[in-house]
Amino acid sequence: MTTNHDLFARARQLMPGGVNSPVRAFKSVGGEPFFTARADGPYLWDVEGKRYIDYVGSWGPMIVGHNHPAVRDAVVAAAQHGLSFGTPGPAEVTMAQTIVKLVPSIDMVRMVNSGTEATMSAIRLARGATGRNKIVKFEGCYHGHGDSFLVKAGSGALTFGVPTSPGVPKAAADLTLTLPYNDINAAHALFAEHGADIAGLIIEPVAGNMNCIPPKEGYLEALRELCTAHGALLIFDEVMTGFRVALGGAQAHYGITPDLTCFGKVIGGGMPVGAYGGRRELMEQVAPAGPVYQAGTLSGNPVAMAAGLAMLELIQAPRFYDDLTARTAKLTDGIAAAAKKHGIPFSTTRVGAMFGLFFTGETVETYAQATAADVASFNRFFHGMLERGVFLAPSAFEAGFVSSAHSDAVIDETIAIADEVFATLKA
Ligand code: PMP
Repeated sequence: MTTNHDLFARARQLMPGGVNSPVRAFKSVGGEPFFTARADGPYLWDVEGKRYIDYVGSWGPMIVGHNHPAVRDAVVAAAQHGLSFGTPGPAEVTMAQTIVKLVPSIDMVRMVNSGTEATMSAIRLARGATGRNKIVKFEGCYHGHGDSFLVKAGSGALTFGVPTSPGVPKAAADLTLTLPYNDINAAHALFAEHGADIAGLIIEPVAGNMNCIPPKEGYLEALRELCTAHGALLIFDEVMTGFRVALGGAQAHYGITPDLTCFGKVIGGGMPVGAYGGRRELMEQVAPAGPVYQAGTLSGNPVAMAAGLAMLELIQAPRFYDDLTARTAKLTDGIAAAAKKHGIPFSTTRVGAMFGLFFTGETVETYAQATAADVASFNRFFHGMLERGVFLAPSAFEAGFVSSAHSDAVIDETIAIADEVFATLKA
């Protein structure tokens, strides 16, 4: 039998860190990753046949659970007509129509192949449209691995302690201004000094790459007002929150209208897909309608569009998000109660089907609080859960995800396992 260990040993000789994306390597939690052989509903099975209840969900896309028959059938049907055309195809039009219908701030959209591409393209458009060069991002927010974003970045960059990556030229990093998340006074001060040079402000409207930190009440509204007052574009990076915290994303949940929005993850149903969109007059500046260049050989790929469309159909079911939110609340409340029972300082956050678990007694609202939480305890908790068949994100700085395939029974089982693991942490 192929073992996880054998595969990882081979992988490490062949791929940097043995993986194709850093956080997968378990470097921050220690130990070795498992290699998934198949996935179905709320579960993953590794190559050794062990089953895990999965709260990573391919880092977000699997909001209806793994291997959903409607998504799989749509992909198989599309693949029978060819894998890529190099011409426009009808599914791209249906996809654009669906996004425009579901997200009122978007009049026009461009499909790309990843969240990274979506954010890189959106800031190019912001710069092209405003004629300004500076962008503003938030400490601990992750927007993919574009040069401009690997400055005080979250996710793997934060996990591995290199939030600003070597290889990002100083000239590029100098154009990225950073702010502490959830601190409106700092934003006012920054705009007072640099407002006239700022092309756009990009934010994860619920931060999901420094664990999960929701915006304080009124914070996003205040950022909207600041951007409008200074002629900067407000860019919502909804790669994680889009079609996850609500059908219309965080912008629907909080009632804010951004100028541009980036999507990824859920929108592709598990295929490599991203998108960016916004008001017509902005999007008409993108090539070939306008001068801001952006292109992609495989963008709008028919098989990927079929997966995404099937997914977007499923999540429009009545009460889909009410139900998901209730399941997520049941999970975080249950885990928090178990921690309390064992006297472990612990707090949780959640918005829609996204959640955070923190080893601290405080309610976490800032990057400083998130990074001050007890990472060593998280790592022990992670491994205790993993041993007992529950897969949480392998880093204290990632959000967790619940899917509609996580039944009450699966959530109850998870809470019972957490209770057992908390008991071991006390020892
Ligand atoms: N933005 C956010 C908010 C993300 O969470 C991610 C990925 N985790 C990205 C952008 C980058 O997306 P991708 O990994 O598809 O390039």
